Amino acid sequence: MPLTTDYLVIGSGVAGLSFALEAAAHGEVLIVTKRSADESNTKYAQGGIAAVLSEADSFEAHIADTLRAGAGLCHPLAVEVCVREGPARVQKLRELGARFDRAAGATNGDADLDLHLEGGHSARRVAHAADMTGREVERALLDAVARTPAIRTLEDHTAVDLITLAKYGGPEVCAGAYVLDGASGKVLTILARAVILASGGAGKVYLYTTNPDVATGDGVAMAFRAGAEIANMEFYQFHPTCLYHPQARRFLITEAMRGEGAVLRRLDGTPFMADHDPRGDLAPRDVVARAIDFEMKKTGAEHVLLDITDKEPAFVRDRFPGIHQECLRWGIDITREPIPVVPAAHFMCGGITTNLEGRTTIPGLWAIGECACTGLHGANRLASNSLLEGLVMASRAANALASTVERGRPWPDVPEWEVGSATPSEEAVVITQNWDEVRRLMWNYVGIVRSTTRLRRAARRVALLQEEIVEYYWKYFVTRDLLELRNIATVAQLVIECAASRHESRGLHFTSDYPDVDPKLAHDTVIKRGVPAHPRGR
Ligand SMILES: Cc1cc2nc3c(=O)[nH]c(=O)nc-3n(C[C@H](O)[C@H](O)[C@H](O)COP(=O)(O)OP(=O)(O)OC[C@H]3O[C@@H](n4cnc5c(N)ncnc54)[C@H](O)[C@@H]3O)c2cc1C
Repeated sequence: MPLTTDYLVIGSGVAGLSFALEAAAHGEVLIVTKRSADESNTKYAQGGIAAVLSEADSFEAHIADTLRAGAGLCHPLAVEVCVREGPARVQKLRELGARFDRAAGATNGDADLDLHLEGGHSARRVAHAADMTGREVERALLDAVARTPAIRTLEDHTAVDLITLAKYGGPEVCAGAYVLDGASGKVLTILARAVILASGGAGKVYLYTTNPDVATGDGVAMAFRAGAEIANMEFYQFHPTCLYHPQARRFLITEAMRGEGAVLRRLDGTPFMADHDPRGDLAPRDVVARAIDFEMKKTGAEHVLLDITDKEPAFVRDRFPGIHQECLRWGIDITREPIPVVPAAHFMCGGITTNLEGRTTIPGLWAIGECACTGLHGANRLASNSLLEGLVMASRAANALASTVERGRPWPDVPEWEVGSATPSEEAVVITQNWDEVRRLMWNYVGIVRSTTRLRRAARRVALLQEEIVEYYWKYFVTRDLLELRNIATVAQLVIECAASRHESRGLHFTSDYPDVDPKLAHDTVIKRGVPAHPRGR
């Protein structure tokens, strides 16, 4: 017997939890989440949430900053909506119990928050909880969910595929999802009045990433398989400096360290940023990431060095206590030796195309947060705008659904998951090998600097890997590892196809064959199953 619910939410980060809390006012909510409920990109967000929260700031300034970062591709209405609705969403989070840092001597109200200034922002507007904002947001939202009886959460449950009625001869409507219960190994059929993808980003498609293991682009891959439109996958944001250590690959080293005088060096100790940009180590994020990538590719080095040893040790310990502690854990004393760093995949600007209520191109299917592409980020995300987008779009989707969801409709008759002749896998090594291959080839061929030849090569290899994965998928019982592998391969295909179709360099997409912006190409790239990547005017 299938499970049924009004709202099936896939993912428990800022977007999924915020949606669930609002939707619970008018329906039953079932959240499925891959690992523990708090494990998400949200939990690792350090900087904070951008919103206009002080008299010294203005909506116009936040809008202008976002449009500038987006390099001509932001959808102005998406920017307007997220910016203008941001302050109310931050206030709502505070009412739910999130505690953000307050200015010294603060009384009550938003105006009393201690707001950070971040790169690309022209005013102090980033609400934060020390440098662990995401952890606090996730804690507050999960506490509120625990107090809400209309919400049920299933941990260790991984959505496998969306159920679309068209597949069974019905209309093109999404009616639920097949979900793998990690404990029993069984695949459940869950039917819902609306399915809300809130499954986050896909950093794991690259060898180095700041994202946790859950970030395998499942939502984008499932939506693509179901026939939904996907957009702008060529715009993947890389953070320039992530600690290089086999066991600690996803620890960010803040860009503020270069602001305080840290110098990027080759392994032989020579500084290199001045060779790439007149601003040297203070060049913007994308320029620094490209320069590091260039140096690593040229010398074959696995990483470069970030050196702050010229500063007084007491200053370094005081200014960067978290990084100092974390690096010590891995045997690196940053007051005395340089930090090995690499750039790392950080944020997916593209995703499932939605309107400004979170509706995808398939009726019944909604997408919010990092897995969606609303047009807010354009070709490059402004720092701290992603938690903001998750909050705003979750609320808009919940509001839209409150008035449109059809509760009385009988449940459709869909087949349960077919195990067929599948058997338990005897060759787990194939999965490990292919995981590694996808991530490595994406890093080497489809990373920060691309070229037409490398993209072609990557496309051929991903296609071959996909053939093997599909064969494996039908032969053996599904496991989370196998599902994730299938999804990162699909996301890889989408990034490659979108990147290959853009014949210019803009925002986060840089190709050595077309190194300049082409003003005629200020368009989105869209792709659907069976329809190759192509431009769509805006
Ligand atoms: C290190 C780091 C620092 C960051 N700093 C900031 C910052 O300061 N400010 C900012 O605005 N943004 C920041 N970001 C980006 C921001 O954190 C994310 O974009 C945002 O949290 C995404 O929220 P989300 O709800 O869309 O997805 P997530 O928070 O990633 O949640 C996705 C959820 O979906 C679940 N899931 C995925 N696939 C499945 C499946 N198949 N079945 C079931 N469940 C599934 C996951 O387990 C998870 O619960 C940072 C990101 C990282 C990694």
